[in-house]
Amino acid sequence: MKVYNTQSKRKEEFVPLVPGKVSMYVCGPTVYNYIHIGNARPMIVFDTVRRYMEHKGYEVNFVSNFTDVDDKIIAKANEEGVTSKEISERYIAECKKDMEGMNVKPATTHPLATQEIDGMIEMISTLMEKGYAYNVNGTVYFRTRKFSEYGKLSHKNLDDLRAGNRSLLVTGEDQKEDPLDFVLWKPKKEGEPYWESPWSDGRPGWHIECSVMSKKYLGEEIDIHAGGEDLIFPHHENEIAQSECCNGKVFARYWLHNAFLNIDNRKMSKSLGNFFTVREISEKYDLQVLRFFMLSAHYRSPLNFSAELMESSKNALERIKNAVSNLGYLLDAAAAGDMTEAEQAELANVNAFEAKFDEAMDDDFNTADAIAAIFELVKYANSSVNSGNTKAFVQNVRDEIIKLCDILGLIAEEKEELLDEEIEKLIEERQAARKAKNFARADEIRNQLLEKGITLLDTREGVKWKRA
Ligand code: AMP
Ligand code: ZN
Repeated sequence: MKVYNTQSKRKEEFVPLVPGKVSMYVCGPTVYNYIHIGNARPMIVFDTVRRYMEHKGYEVNFVSNFTDVDDKIIAKANEEGVTSKEISERYIAECKKDMEGMNVKPATTHPLATQEIDGMIEMISTLMEKGYAYNVNGTVYFRTRKFSEYGKLSHKNLDDLRAGNRSLLVTGEDQKEDPLDFVLWKPKKEGEPYWESPWSDGRPGWHIECSVMSKKYLGEEIDIHAGGEDLIFPHHENEIAQSECCNGKVFARYWLHNAFLNIDNRKMSKSLGNFFTVREISEKYDLQVLRFFMLSAHYRSPLNFSAELMESSKNALERIKNAVSNLGYLLDAAAAGDMTEAEQAELANVNAFEAKFDEAMDDDFNTADAIAAIFELVKYANSSVNSGNTKAFVQNVRDEIIKLCDILGLIAEEKEELLDEEIEKLIEERQAARKAKNFARADEIRNQLLEKGITLLDTREGVKWKRA
């Protein structure tokens, strides 16, 4: 599997630190409002990376934080006259609902910055002891000049950046030794949430959060660190500086960044006001359509949001679902029994679509080509699978489409909900079959219900059932 590493600027063979395991950290959102669909891009993209890794047999430890202390959260809390905690808790809950709608799996751990302050104070203390940080009147800064590798991720010309920021130092508006030094800890302002520390009552800078949470939940050296490309500089560059100076180890081996979701070729962002929230989109479309739209482009290519592209994504997804549903009808009508020899030989052709899918995904997660492979399979199913095929063969083709879609987090199978009466009726029929010693039919009904997520419990008081 090849992944593009922002740091080396090339595709590299992916070799995990521990065979069979992947440790992965994705910078999460600052929670002061509903997430917009630009924020949804890294969520969908890196959830797909995770799913593909799992498909390859890796056990993935996936950590993604919520930034729940920040100027914008405080401003929103003041605006509404409530606590910052109330704002962050509200929007974390809303974000999780959106994630569920987009079929983004919950992370193994979703740490909150405010729950990790002790770890941050500890890391800042270590940086102070090692001479990488300094305190000016309660504000602690990182001393970027002391880290000779500073800039290795973003490949920026640091001298130019320094020159651009020097004016502040000259006018004395800034107390930093160097324009590129950044805040690790800052004193509270009136009415702000704060924590006690050796330097001042205050709160951490943004960058230190991720260094600390990544270390705590994944270890000092991890496989993958990811986020949107706007995080490369300064956020990820600063994370590297903090972590490597503190731990004396390589922080992350592969750096993955998604390109922007744009509108009229400009980055969608809260500050520009040119955004749609995921919630707004969900009023018009199933969020599966949004997911399909995001995956129809390579994650490192800019993607322009438009109503036309959403419509074509909707139609494309519909085509896949229709094929799966038609195969379902064929399945119900097909003859039971083993696959014919011809069908067994044909299976090789079916498997070739998965090989093509894997080849695309192995090439730095080329989801656009992976979707093309699914469409080839759909086309094959529509044209070559018919009522002359056995159940086993039809099932195989249907399962294959569902499986490939699932790796991309797309749900291809329309799960019809059974009504309570229908369930009760089937249970009655099963009881009758059992009485008549027709155990094959009784089992068939049990399995049929199971497929729809209904489990049966035979109790002394009779048969009870529950939905999964
Ligand atoms: P924020 O809440 O602004 O820190 O953003 C959370 C995540 O969303 C980060 O990984 C950002 O890089 C990403 N992000 C924000 N806006 C966009 C956008 N328009 N396109 C793609 N990713 C974005
Ligand atoms: Zn981060």
